[in-house]
Formats: sequence, C-alpha cells, structure tokens
Amino acid sequence: MNATGYFTHRDCWKHEMGAGHPECPERLDAIEDRLLITGVGDALVRREAPQAPLGDIELAHDRMLVAAIRGLCDQLADDITAGGPAYAQIDPDTSLNVHTWNAALRAAGAVIAATDSVLAGEMENAFCAVRPPGHHAERNKAMGFCFFNNIAIAAKYALERHGLKRVAIVDFDVHHGNGTENILSGDDRVLMVSFFQHPFFPYSGFEGHASNMVNLPVPAYTKGMDVRELIEMMWIPRLEEFKPEMIFISAGFDAHREDDMGQMGLVEQDYAWITQRIKDVAKRHSKGRIVSSLEGGYNLSALARSVEAHIRVLADL
Ligand SMILES: [Zn+2]
Repeated sequence: MNATGYFTHRDCWKHEMGAGHPECPERLDAIEDRLLITGVGDALVRREAPQAPLGDIELAHDRMLVAAIRGLCDQLADDITAGGPAYAQIDPDTSLNVHTWNAALRAAGAVIAATDSVLAGEMENAFCAVRPPGHHAERNKAMGFCFFNNIAIAAKYALERHGLKRVAIVDFDVHHGNGTENILSGDDRVLMVSFFQHPFFPYSGFEGHASNMVNLPVPAYTKGMDVRELIEMMWIPRLEEFKPEMIFISAGFDAHREDDMGQMGLVEQDYAWITQRIKDVAKRHSKGRIVSSLEGGYNLSALARSVEAHIRVLADL
C-alpha cells in the first residue's frame, strides 16, 4: 500500500529529435543508471506503461491534433521508404521520428496507468520516467519538445473517469507549463501551482491568468532558498485550502544549477524539499496520492541525481 510505482516503456527511448538535441533518450538512461547503482530502483514497483486510449488523450486535446500527429508519423514512414528525411519538423525545437506516435501514447499511458494504480490503492504514489514530455502541449498545439500533455490528460482522467472532484497540479519545471494552463485554465476542479523563470520560453503565464492558476514568475539566477520561501508563502496555503483528492507533478529538473537550459539555482536538496512539502499536503488531504511525471532536465548528471532525490522522498528511502 505504501509502495511507490515506476512507470516507463522502451518505446519512450525510440522517439528522438536528431543528433545533439537536448531532449534525448540518454536522459532516461541516466535516470535508470542512477536508480540502479544507488539501489533506489530496487525499492520501486516497476510497471510497463500501456498505450493510452485515444479517447483518454482527447479528454485534454482536440481530436484534430491527435489525428494530425498520427498522420505526420504515418506520412513520415512513407516518406522515409521513398528516401526522404528521418524527421518531420513541428517547430524549430520540436520534431518527430517514426517512433514518436508510439512513445507519446506510452508517455500518456504511463500517467493514466499510474493514476489507476494509485487510486486503486495498489501503491501510494508513482513516478513516470517518460518522454516525450508534455507540459508545453496545448489543447490544439504540439510545441516545445511536447506532443500530448501527459499531466493534463491524467488530471482530466482522474476527474472524468474516476469522478474525483478536486485535483492539484504542481509544476516545478524551469519553463512555464503553458500547455497545462491552456487546457485547464478556469476549470475550478483543478488548482495548478507553479514557478518558472521569467522572462523566458514560452513567454507566457505572467499576466491575466485564471484564479485556479498560481503562477510564480521568478528572475534568472533565483536560488533554491528563495524558491522555498515563495512556495511556503504562495503554494502551500492555496493547496491546503483547496484540499486536493490527488496531486499530479510536472516534474521538470531544468531549474537545477548545473542545467544550462535555464538559469536558475536549484540543487537536489531543493527538489527533495519541494517533494516533501507536496507529500505533506498529500498526506493531509489526498491519502498520499501523488503521480509525478518527467518533464524537462537536460544536464544528464544533475537530472539523474535530482530524480533520485525526488523519488527517495516519494518512496520514504
Ligand atoms: Zn523545461
């Protein structure tokens, strides 16, 4: 009952966006290696991620977007057979290969299956080691390394399919989760709390947001101690008042001091502290129920150490 699940699938390694792209399969290798050599992996309940049913993905996305991504993957396979390029570009940073469709279905399927397992009481919480990540994907738009918004899908799934009345989303990636906000803004069954470097990609989230969004834009070079103080003042009271029945985490680790994708100053202990504070809220209001899913984190060593710190707290190790 107090177990922590670990959901992933080999298909998540097969999606890649070209040589030298920071959102690379080696990110998952770094995490797996770290969990193996530290023994942390032995304490987790390891599960294969199923493919998400399209009807569940369409809880958060328009059918047209889902069909478009599938169509691009199919078209790409045909083009490659005819001698064409190996990638189809969606935006300057984001492209798909022939495996992207299956990887995206597994990534969304992981968070859905983790949600089922946690709500069934098979485990207390779970971490999904998946890619592509999700929090930049909007209802109608794939962007910023993201195709389907895994966490938004899981939140909607918990509300619509399991009948929960209140779920919280915590996003500690260095970038604003514009996609999650786009999908869930104004839905009072959801409370989303986040911080993000500002001004910074995707240049959103700093003005005019709905009352169910607690957005904390912070300047470059903000350190962990300042982030902790903001969380204590701005996130925790709102979460306590909201009393979520379940908490979802968009777990990006690119606010780490060693991660050059962003310019913030968090370290492993900060991720452990944030996770513990979320866990405290979950213990009080949510029967401990947390599903966390990988978003960013591009310095492989810092990513692996930070995920370990995050999982150690989730699993009480
Ligand atoms: Zn990020």
